[in-house]
Amino acid sequence: MRVILVEDDALNRRVVRDMLQVIDIDMVEAENGEAGLDLIAASPFDLVLMDLRMPGIDGLTAIRRLRAMPSPICDTPVVVITADTAPDLKAQCSAAGADDVLLKPVALNALIDVIARVAAAGSGDEMMLD
Ligand SMILES: [Mg+2]
Repeated sequence: MRVILVEDDALNRRVVRDMLQVIDIDMVEAENGEAGLDLIAASPFDLVLMDLRMPGIDGLTAIRRLRAMPSPICDTPVVVITADTAPDLKAQCSAAGADDVLLKPVALNALIDVIARVAAAGSGDEMMLD
């Protein structure tokens, strides 16, 4: 499974990278939305993990741009990872095209659950997490 994390905070990137290593998933990193979209356009990913607050375009804008890309790139599952707890956050993310939202600090179990859920919904393939 190919996963990309678009996140401006280096410590947060390391935390998610370390968690994904526990389940043998290698993660590509991008420091901002533009760089992430370039990487996603260049080679397909199975899952995009997207921060919301970043320099340059924010996460919701990046998701909208991803959803406007040609198929099959536009169908890549996207999970938002954010510390934002606004009441309408989930609706905003959903409207932008996100599949799910994880709140920081992300727990390993929550990350595994969301990966399994999104992957199952997206492809119908069986997950191979262990
Ligand atoms: Mg950020």
